[in-house]
Amino acid sequence: MTQANAAQLIDGKALAATIRTSVKAGVQQRLAQGLRAPCLAVVLVGEDAASKVYVGSKRKACEEVGFESRAYDLPVTVSQETLEKLVDQLNADPAVDGILVQLPLPAGIDTTRILERISPSKDVDGFHPYNIGRLAQRIPLLRPCTPWGVMKLLASTGTDIHGLHAVVVGASNIVGRPMSLELLLGGATTTVCHRFTQNLEHHVRQADIVIAAVGKAAFIPGDWIKPGAIVIDVGINRKADGSLCGDIEFDVAQYRASFITPVPGGVGPMTVACLMENTLFACNQFHS
Ligand code: NAD
Repeated sequence: MTQANAAQLIDGKALAATIRTSVKAGVQQRLAQGLRAPCLAVVLVGEDAASKVYVGSKRKACEEVGFESRAYDLPVTVSQETLEKLVDQLNADPAVDGILVQLPLPAGIDTTRILERISPSKDVDGFHPYNIGRLAQRIPLLRPCTPWGVMKLLASTGTDIHGLHAVVVGASNIVGRPMSLELLLGGATTTVCHRFTQNLEHHVRQADIVIAAVGKAAFIPGDWIKPGAIVIDVGINRKADGSLCGDIEFDVAQYRASFITPVPGGVGPMTVACLMENTLFACNQFHS
């Protein structure tokens, strides 16, 4: 096939920059009114290399939009009790608008207990059962950043997703599940596939929208993509040569899809931009 048949790239980097610019304007508006800048507390436990990169880009984004950001870097040996006390302290601090605990937490820490301990009004990752429940009931407040970012990427294509068949591959608490809730809210007919799904190929071939969040390099062959489908690749996988790739075989999929996200430069930057948006929202809505 020729280059002319290639899908249009969805530029997550550019869209994320637009969102950060609008968050920055929101911060300046607050300052002009004599209000304080929003504040995000970022908790990092241990030395996981990928987590350090993600936390670094979140802190950098805070700086760019004019937030105050507080860093809590704890050793991998930190106890459940100490971590819970830190969350309590941040919950009680009127100057903190958002609390982000970078996942995964080390084995031995009960992640559910930590996430449930974060005040829902400061849960800018949108992982607290209260916020997931709000989304499930079509009354979202703080929405999980990655799925919310994907919805904005879909909107940026100008496609009306009502009635389209969306197939989500992956059903984790942080991506696949809330993704399916967002798509339902957006009016798509939604199928969720996971490790127990039989005949994944059959499902993917039906999809008008494919969203992959599995975490396995080039896991979905490009020739499974229905011609004209929109392809969103959430996966971030490191190849042997150190470069990143998604869960979908991009080189082939790009000649079948109408729109496709690159990895990197697609979903990743949107996650961080939505975190900034959530923090400003929490600040304006709940803590001013
Ligand atoms: P996870 O490991 O928690 O979940 C993976 C999901 O894939 C599970 O639901 C599992 O059932 C499913 N799965 C595994 N094998 C499968 C198979 N053979 N067929 C169908 N489904 C299968 O991972 P996660 O936290 O949801 O992350 C998924 C990917 O997305 C990872 O690469 C991660 O790095 C990436 N991620 C990216 C962003 C971003 O901002 N771009 C944010 C979060 C996660």
